[in-house]
Amino acid sequence: MKRITIAKGDGIGPEIMNATLKVLNAAGVALEFDEIEIGEKVYLSGNTSGIPEDVWNTIRKNKVFLKAPITTPQGGGYKSLNVTMRKTLGLFANVRPCRSMHPFVATKHPVMDTVIIRENEEDLYAGIEHQQTDEVIQCLKLISRPGCEKIVRYAFEYAKQYGRKKVSCFTKDNIMKQTDGLFHKVFNEVAAEYPEIENEHWIIDIGAAKLADTPEKFDVIVMPNLYGDVLSDIAAQITGSVGLAGSANIGQTCAMFEAIHGSAPDIAGKNMANPSGLINAAIMMLNHIGEGDAAELIQNAWLKTIEDGVHTSDIYKEGVSKIVATTSEFADAIINNLGKKPAKLTPVKFRAEQSFKMPTYQRRKQATKALHGVDVFAHWSGTNPEELATQLLKLEKENIKLQMITNRGVKVWPNGFEETFCTDHWRCRFASMDETPINKSDIVAILAESDKNGIDIVKTENLYSFEGVRGYSLGQGQ
Ligand code: NAD
Repeated sequence: MKRITIAKGDGIGPEIMNATLKVLNAAGVALEFDEIEIGEKVYLSGNTSGIPEDVWNTIRKNKVFLKAPITTPQGGGYKSLNVTMRKTLGLFANVRPCRSMHPFVATKHPVMDTVIIRENEEDLYAGIEHQQTDEVIQCLKLISRPGCEKIVRYAFEYAKQYGRKKVSCFTKDNIMKQTDGLFHKVFNEVAAEYPEIENEHWIIDIGAAKLADTPEKFDVIVMPNLYGDVLSDIAAQITGSVGLAGSANIGQTCAMFEAIHGSAPDIAGKNMANPSGLINAAIMMLNHIGEGDAAELIQNAWLKTIEDGVHTSDIYKEGVSKIVATTSEFADAIINNLGKKPAKLTPVKFRAEQSFKMPTYQRRKQATKALHGVDVFAHWSGTNPEELATQLLKLEKENIKLQMITNRGVKVWPNGFEETFCTDHWRCRFASMDETPINKSDIVAILAESDKNGIDIVKTENLYSFEGVRGYSLGQGQ
């Protein structure tokens, strides 16, 4: 019998978890549970992660975790439990199905059945931030080949397994040609391995606008972390059923399933919360562990219950709904509908063996890289870039020349415009004229020289080519 970890969480968590477990039980799912305590009580006991050390063993041993929402106490110092969980367990894929329940739940988009697959581990969420000058703070956007390959492959495998027809990719690679460029490139590479599935790429801004306007045109969408964070909320919201949605966080070995809403302390203990989000998360979990038959049984019973107008107060609507159900009545209605299918809403059809194995990432042979120069970032509170250039020109070496100075990416030397607004953070590029390789010692010499000349260098970035391909932007959005 499969053993999974559960946490009943805070607020409405215990009520919706009990309702969910009752439904799983009635559906005859062969599961055993290890219950752990995480969340508010743990935070308030002085543990800033909200997860006691000893429960990690249970989570890692069982590998599958069904989690009710938790309350993060007010005030600072508490780390996001979900972020800790995702990063520590390598849960690289966030999966959020967004489906309209028209006409039973009000929505402006009656035909919508889209799955957002968001990269979960990297991008700006690496959380590497530094203040470098009085005026400028930096957040590092890290995009890796393994990160891209894993999430894009997951999106195509998901589409294949669930009979989806198209995978769309959203990036901003017209501006971020290196980072988002890699995501898009990997998307094209992986898409070629799935000729039976249609693929397309949208620049995120127009893609997002189209998603908000005509979501019925999208099927599966895969995105880097930040875009996925924003768009998965928008997509869930426009179905009109944000309170009904579940989500999955999937890793190579572990996976976590939860509702997308929070712990709703305002209605806790009143037996009025809607358990649908956690039930839908549990359905995703059943598919993940290869219990597709049970997932199908429960999801169709749930759709039928929604269609019957048995609605908790959050989705109750005069003229559409028939009964205001409590949390437990709603769960009982689903149980009564086990084995039945909805008539108007499209029933789901899952394969018995819906789970799929992701291939392990294979690292490629290390590329030949050549060092061409260095970007040094200076903290300088002057205003005329010509003055800064005069000082920097003293640092030039025979083989390494000052190529340009930019301010927030805009070239201000040579031939800058006086209209350009400048901060106290200057990117100064020293490089060999014809991209002939230089040595690290040349960079060290430039840094030593700048220190001697009182130029405050706050950061450096080496300029490399990999297998002869330039691995850095040329500046000014190039
Ligand atoms: P929330 O989602 O808990 O509540 C927002 C509103 O939606 C409230 O009016 C609530 O009553 C209602 N609502 C939410 N879920 C419902 C349900 N199942 N049935 C009926 N109504 C429901 O968001 P919030 O108020 O911003 O956050 C409350 C707490 O939840 C905070 O401590 C927050 O940190 C936490 N939170 C946890 C998670 C998680 O564990 N994954 C996610 C989001 C928020």
